[in-house]
Parts: sequence; structure tokens; C-alpha cells
Amino acid sequence: MEHTNGRPSEEPRPAANELAAEFERTFGRLPEMAWSAPGRVNLIGEYTDLNESFVLPIAIPSSTRALVAARSDRALVVRSTHQGYGEGSAPVTVQLGGSALPGGWAAYPAAVALALEATGYPVPGAELLIDSDVPVGAGLSSSAALECSVAAALCSLAGVDVPPMDLAVVARRAENDFVGVPCGIMDQAASMCCQDAHALMLDTRSLEVEQVPFDLAAAGLGLLVVDTRVKHELGASAYSRRWEACQLAARALGVPALRDVAPGQVESSLRALAGVWDGEVLKRARHVFTEQARVLHVVEVLRSGDPAAMGPDLLAGHASLRDDFEVSCAELDAVVDAACSAGAIGARMTGAGFGGSAIVLADEARLGAIGSAVRAAFDDRGFAPPHCFPVTASAGAHRMF
Ligand code: ADP
Ligand code: MG
Repeated sequence: MEHTNGRPSEEPRPAANELAAEFERTFGRLPEMAWSAPGRVNLIGEYTDLNESFVLPIAIPSSTRALVAARSDRALVVRSTHQGYGEGSAPVTVQLGGSALPGGWAAYPAAVALALEATGYPVPGAELLIDSDVPVGAGLSSSAALECSVAAALCSLAGVDVPPMDLAVVARRAENDFVGVPCGIMDQAASMCCQDAHALMLDTRSLEVEQVPFDLAAAGLGLLVVDTRVKHELGASAYSRRWEACQLAARALGVPALRDVAPGQVESSLRALAGVWDGEVLKRARHVFTEQARVLHVVEVLRSGDPAAMGPDLLAGHASLRDDFEVSCAELDAVVDAACSAGAIGARMTGAGFGGSAIVLADEARLGAIGSAVRAAFDDRGFAPPHCFPVTASAGAHRMF
């Protein structure tokens, strides 16, 4: 199944004053302020957050902007410029203080308001215009970008100063408890807390973070995102089966979560899991153990200023997601194979899998040729053209005006 992007990447994103003019056309007055929150890609550490372990995302330059103005009543009136989610249609009105969520995309901003109130923050009535160039449904976390931009804008409008990680927790709560989509804390933490030219080492249990230098340009390198534009609908059931396997493994090993298995216990732990679910649980746990080690190794090489040294970890991470966790698909494998044949230093699927996006690390000068090689490989295989675009590690949520 195909998803629709916010707008074609060739089209420049509207400037702040054009968005303010769009706000005025929609609501009859100018916005008071605007917040921007980015999408993200995870460099390494996939499905480790299910096991309370480490992840290492960067924020990407694509972001969602939320323009707001306060209202005197208790209504939240929202409109999105996105072609597939409200462009041309009337704004959606949500009454604050209730518990009913609207259907469709407006459930996200409404859920953020509910989660803010449930956490004890004041939520003013407001008009909100949403504009985004984060591709939707591509595994780049357009949902977290939307939640975080709205959460930051509403808090700012209310005059409350909330630490970024606290707001990430509220945004995740909105998605988990109110929209009803299970997800870890990575997406919202990345969107709120990432910094320019850094990756975010996040301990998903303690929520401790470290900003790890990730200045690829300084090393002559670049990172390409390849959005396969497919989403195979294995989705929820495949996700919950893996969640069950990880929980079962932790119980069998007598630990709170798989992250608590020390490196020296990995071999014996795997032996102990050998017979469970015909070997399926062992494979899932092995991915978690090896992936956790890869995150720690990548952080180490980045701290030492040698990003090229993460290439083998990306490749091993992909193989592990493909063979042990079994969440890759033909399109994602084709990206990795074609990129490597064209001289990439490393590549892997990123995000939940079954479609979505992959990342490719390469010499900056080779990125164009690698993109062409990936597109040619897709053409050969009869896959629809992927969307390839370079990204740099970008800033997390910030106020635009
Ligand atoms: P992703 O991997 O992009 O986060 P999700 O399925 O988690 O995919 O979230 C996508 C949903 O978020 C969309 O279906 C829509 O409801 C909402 N959404 C994201 N961006 C926008 C936007 N710019 N305008 C309206 N809704 C959006
Ligand atoms: Mg999402």
C-alpha cells in the first residue's frame, strides 16, 4: 500500500510569513506564535526500546510547524495543510475538558490537549494551523512531530515552561493512551530533545540522554534516507507477537527486561531460551542482545570522532532485523543490497519495518550515485520508485516566532 507525502520534496516549504498568511486566511487573524518539531531517523537501536534499552536517533530537517492563537472559549480548532489530511477542508473543532476524540488526524492534536490536561498542565482554547514536510507513514515519525509541535505550542501559549523531555512524555502519552497507538518514547524524545549535529543517546528506561557528536559533513560523509513508500500491513499483530516474545524471554530469564542481561550472560541466556516457541523467542532475544551491543559500540566510535566506523554495525543491525527479528521486507533488503553494491559504508532499515524507510551512510560524494543505484534496483525488481533524500542531524523542537 502506498502512503502520500506531505508535499513533493521538490516544492519548497512555505516560509513563516506565508504560513502566517495562511493562518489568517483560515482563522481571520494572525497567529500569536509558532513552534516547529522535527521528524527523526534512528541510527541504531531498533526494537531496543521495547526492552527498556538504548536508542540513538537524530532529528531530520523535515519538520511539522504548529501556528497558534488563543481563543477566549474552551475550543481547540485545528486545520492541517496536508493534502491527505485536511487541505481544503474546514477546520475541526474539539471541545476541551471532555474526553471525546474526533476521528481522523485531528485525534492527534486533541489527544495532546487531553494528555496535557491529564498531566496537570493548563490548556487554553486555541486555533491551530499545522504544516509539515515530514512524509506521513514513512517511519520518520510524522505523528511525533505533530504531537510535539502541538504540545510545545499549547504550553507556550499558556505561558508554562515545560522541560523538553517532560513534554516528550506527555506527547507519547497522547499517542499511547488517547490515540491508542502503542509506541516507545524514542520518537517524541528525539523530536523534543535532539540537537543540531548530534545524535541522541537515550536510555529509554531512565530517560537519561547524552548528546553524541554526529557531524558527518566534517568527516566527508553523508546520510541518505530512502523512503520505500510501502507499508505492508502486518502491523499490529506482528508488533504484539514480538512484544510477547521479548516479555516471555525476560520472564524466562528472570530479569525485568532483556536490557538487564549483561554481556557475559548472553550465551547462557540464549541457551536457556533455545526451545521456547520453536526457537522464535531465542531469535528475538538475540536481536535485542546484539542490537544493544551495537548501540554502545556506535556511541563509542562517534564519541571518538570516527563515524565511518559505524558502517559494520549498521549492516549487522540490518541482518539481525531481517533474520532474527524478522521485520524487514523485500524493498528494505533491496535498498541495503543496492546501496552496498554501489559503495555505501553501511545501510539498514530504520523504524518498525515491514516497509517505511532505510538509511545509507556513505562518502558524501557518492550519495547521488547510490540513490540512482537504489532507484535502478527498485525499477529492476518492479517496485515503485523510492523517495531518496539526504539528511543532516538537526535541531529538536523550537519556537519559530
Ligand atoms: P509516522 O511513521 O509518519 O509517524 P503514523 O501512522 O504513526 O506514521 O502517523 C501518521 C498519522 O499522523 C497520519 O495518519 C495523520 O493522522 C497524522 N499526521 C501526521 N502528520 C500530519 C499532518 N501534517 N497533518 C495532519 N495529520 C498528520
Ligand atoms: Mg508514528
